[in-house]
Amino acid sequence: MISTPALVAPSAGAAFEARTVEHRDLRDDDVLIDVAFAGICHSDIHQVREEWGSAIFPMVPGHEIAGVVSAVGDGVTKYKVGDRVGVGCMVDSCGECEFCKDGEEQFCSKGAVMTYNGKGYDGEPTKGGYAQQVVVSERFAVGIPDGIELDVAAPLLCAGITVWSPLKRWGAGPGKRVAVIGLGGLGHMAVKLAVALGAEVSVLSRSDAKKEDGLALGATAYHATGDEGVLKSLKGSFDLIINTVSADLPMQTYIGLLRPLGVIANVGLPTNNYDFAPGAVVGGSRVVAGSNIGGIPATAEMLAFCAEHGIGATIEKISADEVDAAYDRVVAGDVRYRFVIDTATISA
Ligand code: NAP
Ligand code: ZN
Repeated sequence: MISTPALVAPSAGAAFEARTVEHRDLRDDDVLIDVAFAGICHSDIHQVREEWGSAIFPMVPGHEIAGVVSAVGDGVTKYKVGDRVGVGCMVDSCGECEFCKDGEEQFCSKGAVMTYNGKGYDGEPTKGGYAQQVVVSERFAVGIPDGIELDVAAPLLCAGITVWSPLKRWGAGPGKRVAVIGLGGLGHMAVKLAVALGAEVSVLSRSDAKKEDGLALGATAYHATGDEGVLKSLKGSFDLIINTVSADLPMQTYIGLLRPLGVIANVGLPTNNYDFAPGAVVGGSRVVAGSNIGGIPATAEMLAFCAEHGIGATIEKISADEVDAAYDRVVAGDVRYRFVIDTATISA
């Protein structure tokens, strides 16, 4: 077994404790990664607080992992010791179904194994990146290109790929009017990526608090949606809306902001159902879509794009003892724009 210091949530909503946890010995296709930084995704909070139903405890969250390979299994061919790699939301999949073969492992017919709060095919609970080391199959480690520092790379492994997928799928680019709802971890990455893809980007945030930041990220317009008149004035404005909000939204109002044939791609995962009338989508032939992370080839493509365009996440680096307070700040919408844990500060 491999022992490593980690941040553990002992039970739902409890404060984190630094403890030593055990990883399996390396299988032939495994790499051991010395984790340098782990991003805090709102999904970590949903799961630690059991907002998505019952979860597996004790839990080591973290699916925005950036680090360096420190050992390799006997059959590893993709990486060598010293390579800079990231790990996102998945650590295994069957590798044989049509989706795995297509590089869409998140849709694996057998069920992809989640990086934490999941069980491997061996039945063992998985442990994520709030730790100094993780063990994963080389198939689920993605090379981080030179030119992206590990701290700003970590959030790309979930926030980056999650917004990259719908931006690419629905054709964000020159001539497309894209709106991003919610300027948090996913939202700020959606703005950066959509701008770099050449789209005309608007930020829809609750207040004016993030206006300067939103425009500095490259958005050409910023609207504070707290004022109802603002949403009315934006009716029929956008080809594509990326909804990153972690809480319930008046979906019908936002569908109304789409131009005919427009798409609202939802990546935020609040607990309640959407509420909209059939006429809201039938009129204008609009699309209400969802999007779930992205596969390993798309993740590599997104990282290469980020390297080429000088894109990383905008982060606040924190130490292990600041994680509980950081969770509260994320929920309050007070993160600029991703917390990243310096895992060297975990002392168990
Ligand atoms: P985040 O950093 O907390 O950002 C969410 C943003 O939503 C906030 O910054 C805030 O933006 C807005 N918001 C929060 N509460 C709100 C409320 N009550 N009403 C209106 N707006 C509110 O979270 P994140 O890490 O980006 O994650 C966002 C969501 O995506 C979460 O639900 C997460 O679980 C989900 N997620 C999904 C996938 C996927 O594969 N689909 C992957 C990762 C995460 P403003 O302050 O600008 O209004
Ligand atoms: Zn995430």
